[in-house]
Amino acid sequence: MIVGVVGGGQLGRMLALAGLPLGLQFRFLDPHPDACARRVGDLIVGAFDDPDALARFGDGLDVATYEFENASADSVRALAQRVPVRPGAESLRVAQDRVLEKQFFEEAGLPVAPWAPVDSLDDLRRAIDAVGAPGVLKTRTGGYDGKGQARISAPGDADAAWRAVGERPSIYERFVDFERELSLIFVRSARDETAAYPLVENTHIDGILARTDAPAPHIEGAMQRDAEQRVAALAARLDHVGVLTVEFFESDGRLIANEMAPRVHNSGHWTTEGGATSQFENHLRAILGWPIGPTACRGPSRMLNCIGDTPPPQAVAGVPGAHLHLYEKASRPGRKVGHITLTGANPAALDAAQRALAEAIGPGPCPALAR
Ligand code: AMP
Repeated sequence: MIVGVVGGGQLGRMLALAGLPLGLQFRFLDPHPDACARRVGDLIVGAFDDPDALARFGDGLDVATYEFENASADSVRALAQRVPVRPGAESLRVAQDRVLEKQFFEEAGLPVAPWAPVDSLDDLRRAIDAVGAPGVLKTRTGGYDGKGQARISAPGDADAAWRAVGERPSIYERFVDFERELSLIFVRSARDETAAYPLVENTHIDGILARTDAPAPHIEGAMQRDAEQRVAALAARLDHVGVLTVEFFESDGRLIANEMAPRVHNSGHWTTEGGATSQFENHLRAILGWPIGPTACRGPSRMLNCIGDTPPPQAVAGVPGAHLHLYEKASRPGRKVGHITLTGANPAALDAAQRALAEAIGPGPCPALAR
């Protein structure tokens, strides 16, 4: 069977690394000839909206998916004429637009921060009045890792914030005074089977995910069940097939939904060693209509992103409980080039492994090691 993946980045590469042992073959569509998935499948080099490249990519596929949510929903719809695309274009359309995303969250019963759509500076002034300050102005489309955002502490910041987001259609939302950030990796299959991984805790540094702790410490069963039920409602509304990730703020014991990704997610990378089935394998099982694998934690694990620079593999190999994943991407400041998963019998063992890792590689490659 041939699985097509729109996007040839590290998520596509890890999907293939999980799927090759299952007898699957992979084909990627990416505008860059050096896309890092090129070694684990065939690469069609072309723009995501190039009809000719899409036709070559789609020819003979059994199923297609995407690992990159900025592919246009129209291209995905065109591809869906030839081959089943899972998740469907609706999940992509909603994930690409922060206003639609908030509306879908609300309809699924997921609490969100107070918000208002903003199409002009006047709208923004009214939104600050209605929603309150402090808050964050975010472009409706195209933002990621904190880009396309401006903080607003008081109504007087409106002009500067509107210019900072390029005067583009945006959303203004109330700043959430959160204790921590969590995410839920949820899976729904083409046969409507569902499963969820335990909630995990995410730490960002300079707006980029630096560390994930799985499972998140001190989660009550009721909070996990509540998150699963509401995300299940969201997935059903979207008729979503595959992995669906929702990021939350935890504030005063409540979960407030921030954003969703219709795909495998950086905060699920720990599942390769730490989960009973990895998010990558479960995404493939789901889009193929196969049974979903168990989603329990094998034990506590911690994922540390390598950002801008890779550690010497031999040095990581010397740290018991450390597992290195490099993406074969050129080093560049701010770029995710790999990750390390730490596994151990208990959180204290993870702390010990992290100290040994910091000693072995220094804080350079993993910003979380500098903390
Ligand atoms: P986003 O692109 O929406 O994930 O935002 C990037 C980061 O900015 C989040 O991970 C939070 O740390 C922070 N952030 C975004 N929206 C809010 C908010 N409404 N209140 C507080 N912090 C926020």
